[in-house]
Amino acid sequence: MQQKPMSLLEFQRKFSTEKACQGHLFRLRWPQGYKCPRCQHDQAYFHRTRQLYQCKACGYQASLTAGTIFHKTRTPITKWFWMIFLMGRQKSGVSMLSLQRMLEIRSYKTVWVMGHKIRKAMADRDAYYQLGGLIEMDDTYFGSSKPGKRGRGAGGKAAVVVAVEIEDRKPRFATMRHVGSLSATEIHSTFTGHLQQDWVVRTDGWPSYGIFDSAQGEHQPVVTGSGRDAVKLLPWVHTVIANVKGNIRGVYHGVSSKHLSRYLAEFSYRFNRRFWESQMFDRMLTACLATNTIGYSELRE
Ligand SMILES: [Zn+2]
Repeated sequence: MQQKPMSLLEFQRKFSTEKACQGHLFRLRWPQGYKCPRCQHDQAYFHRTRQLYQCKACGYQASLTAGTIFHKTRTPITKWFWMIFLMGRQKSGVSMLSLQRMLEIRSYKTVWVMGHKIRKAMADRDAYYQLGGLIEMDDTYFGSSKPGKRGRGAGGKAAVVVAVEIEDRKPRFATMRHVGSLSATEIHSTFTGHLQQDWVVRTDGWPSYGIFDSAQGEHQPVVTGSGRDAVKLLPWVHTVIANVKGNIRGVYHGVSSKHLSRYLAEFSYRFNRRFWESQMFDRMLTACLATNTIGYSELRE
């Protein structure tokens, strides 16, 4: 049975101090108690000033946050926790400007970088999902609107292919990929790692999708005339596209194509875990502990 997600007041009580947050991170990272990353010994000295654990057997020094998004951060962990909690909780996404105000973070740049670090952790984790069975797939464009037939081939916009796994006429998992073009080879190479073999890929009549008719699976083109037909024949992929477009327009006021993949991953991460809302926060923290982080300089490139 689905547990209820934590209320804001419950969250505030539980994670009101740096110590409480660090204790929680410790339990997520070492659920069976401390273990030396080098020799697996379970006894360590704790150096309070340097925040390091030193193994009593081999002397190896480990820190709770080294290599994670919290490493050497000047922002209190309590604020990071709030930000992760709110980003996971708000289905439609939450704007960085409102987070900056809510969490009293001085500079917009700081909150912007934090947001992308959290998104990257979500993206890394979500990349493990593979869709299988019946998959609805379609493409769309993000970016300033220029007239063009269905956007395909429209200049200056970012092409995104969206795939939704369907079971019993209901959507299960979704993935969205920013692609350089809508050519068959580009779509195929982008998606093969994200599909389980024996797929049935259902699309409209765009010729590139024919590439999915192969030894690994079947392609089902459902020829669509009007837009209404497309919505009827590929209902879930259109619903997902409409939602993500609405969010990116509404909350993020459009995003640059450079960062689009990370925003898409944030959306699909939440979508794919929508039945485990009560676990969302801990799952996101675990992802944040596991990911190789990204810095401001890389984000600016
Ligand atoms: Zn050791």
